[in-house]
Amino acid sequence: MPNESAKSSLTVVPGTAGDDEVCQICFGSGMEIVADKGARLCSCQRTGARSTALDRAKVPRRYAGCHFNSYTPDPRQPSQLEARRIATQFAMEYPAVERGVLFTGPVGVGKTHLAVSILKGLTERGFSCLFYEFGSLLKEIQDSYNPSTKASELTVLAPVLNTEVLVLDELGASKPTDWVKDTMAHIINTRYNDRRATIFTTNYPDERRNDREETLEDRIGVRLRSRLYEMCKTIEMKGTDYRRRKA
Ligand code: ADP
Repeated sequence: MPNESAKSSLTVVPGTAGDDEVCQICFGSGMEIVADKGARLCSCQRTGARSTALDRAKVPRRYAGCHFNSYTPDPRQPSQLEARRIATQFAMEYPAVERGVLFTGPVGVGKTHLAVSILKGLTERGFSCLFYEFGSLLKEIQDSYNPSTKASELTVLAPVLNTEVLVLDELGASKPTDWVKDTMAHIINTRYNDRRATIFTTNYPDERRNDREETLEDRIGVRLRSRLYEMCKTIEMKGTDYRRRKA
């Protein structure tokens, strides 16, 4: 059932079987009449269209609240303000952009938040987009090798290779076996050769700050890191985990 705040549009119509929900603004016609202005697409249709585009882009529901204007940069961290500026610029200027974006930085500084905000901006402008957490993508590809599953490697990979803008979240998080490295290289190089924009996030830094810390190069190899320099603008974000900041 819709909550109180959504009451303006969707309610259960008394007397209908089951729980058919009918918009109380357009009564299912999809159009609403605005005084002195005429008819326009009803707000229930506009919301529906947006969520369908986001579902198609596979943006996880937990990021539903991520927008540029819900991102509050830490005032002590100029890199966060700069990251939001570059992300907003990308979303506005695409497809007239030279390169994708690589967001680096510690956990919780909002790398995924900004990457999702870009995707939302682009889906609203009608571009095809796809979001994948890198580990989940690798798992889907591995599962596709199982003869009992319906998906083939191609059905998983084709949208990843062909979508206009792809977000690959948490690059480097999976154990870098030869298969993982080859798969990463295939996806990244194919998109690079086809001049398709890719947005990456990673928790791994470029500079090692202590002996125990692994760099992005350690995780994905020197060749792929070098390829990312060519295909992305790197944005190094600094700061502490937003969830701790809020707490
Ligand atoms: P990262 O990808 O850098 O690890 P996330 O983008 O996943 O971090 O952020 C973790 C959570 O904190 C998310 O719910 C995100 O919306 C929120 N968050 C992070 N930074 C900010 C910020 N500056 N303003 C508002 N929300 C933020």
